Amino acid sequence: MMSIAAYRGKRKAYVSAESGTYYLPRLMVSRKNQVSHLGLATVHLISRLEKQRRQRSLPVAFMPGFACNLACEYCYQRTDPTHRSAKPVLSKGGPSYEDIAKFVSSVAAAHRVSNVNLSLLGGEPLMYRRQIREFVGALRDQTDISDISLVTNGTLLKEENLTELMALGLSFAQVTFDGSRAFHDHFRSFKSGTGTYDAIMKNLVNLAASHVKLEIRINLSAANILDCGELIDDLAQCVSPEQVGVCLTLIDDTKFYSEPAQKGDVFFSQYRNLVSYTSGKGFLVSLPGHSGLCRTCGNADVPGGLVVTADGKLYSCWDSAGQLGFEVGDVQNSFASDRHNHWVRCGYGSPDGAALHQRLALEAIKAIEGENETL
Ligand code: SF4
Repeated sequence: MMSIAAYRGKRKAYVSAESGTYYLPRLMVSRKNQVSHLGLATVHLISRLEKQRRQRSLPVAFMPGFACNLACEYCYQRTDPTHRSAKPVLSKGGPSYEDIAKFVSSVAAAHRVSNVNLSLLGGEPLMYRRQIREFVGALRDQTDISDISLVTNGTLLKEENLTELMALGLSFAQVTFDGSRAFHDHFRSFKSGTGTYDAIMKNLVNLAASHVKLEIRINLSAANILDCGELIDDLAQCVSPEQVGVCLTLIDDTKFYSEPAQKGDVFFSQYRNLVSYTSGKGFLVSLPGHSGLCRTCGNADVPGGLVVTADGKLYSCWDSAGQLGFEVGDVQNSFASDRHNHWVRCGYGSPDGAALHQRLALEAIKAIEGENETL
């Protein structure tokens, strides 16, 4: 039997099944968050089609480079936390894009899938538009690409860049905020020190109006959660909420980004309130996509997908890409026999583990459902 949790928002309902989160017409979910028979049949059909589609594609994360036009204080890619610009670098003289594409295609064939689901990450991937064009071209010569998605800070998503990416086949973009304008601008600034909030909001207008599916990722910790309603209000002014997903992502408090006084129950009740507020504004609130075992990381014996940098090195996880000592092979020699020693999964650097955060987020959302049922 399918395990399902549902929440009826003001404009749409969202339903979380094991295979993912789906958005349904509001009438398919009752006021008590019960999914109707038609709703269940719809979720069943969508999740089956989605599963089939996913099984037919190989997830590939490609990092064209690690440079970024921002100087976020806590940059997750900093190899040396004491040094603002110590980011991973690509080694020189690596294989050609054609060689990388051939390797990707050979792995897809070994997985018996007919196409590739490509994610573009960085640094800031839009600093590498020529390289992206060339890599996508080389990959298309070797295999079909079912989807292209982009994880970006959003500052370079100007109209001409968006048009170019759409011509390449971009179908999904995730743009990150760190909270309300004041909080975001404090942590996410250009190298000049100027905040990026307004620049990103401006770029979202064209993006949200295009056919590219937009997801806003909001990095949440105890330090910024209370002010995030302001960000949700600003987003609702700027885009049509029903066309935009919002991913409320719990991140670890760090030394830059923490409020140790607010923890536990208080924090998760704040999280629940923010989920309700966001869906009440009409946004599609994404639930955590997995519980620590993502489709790309897999495990060292059965890699789920590929994480490959432009110098042809292979990694097990988006988070470890480019980090010295975390290579698990390269495209010339495939996965290394000692890869088990370096195989990490999402959240490996977190003291609690990303899996724990994801579980807590799900629990918080289930609690909302419980509260609604008792009304
Ligand atoms: S946008 Fe991302 S890659 Fe760029 S500085 Fe900020 S955290 Fe680092």
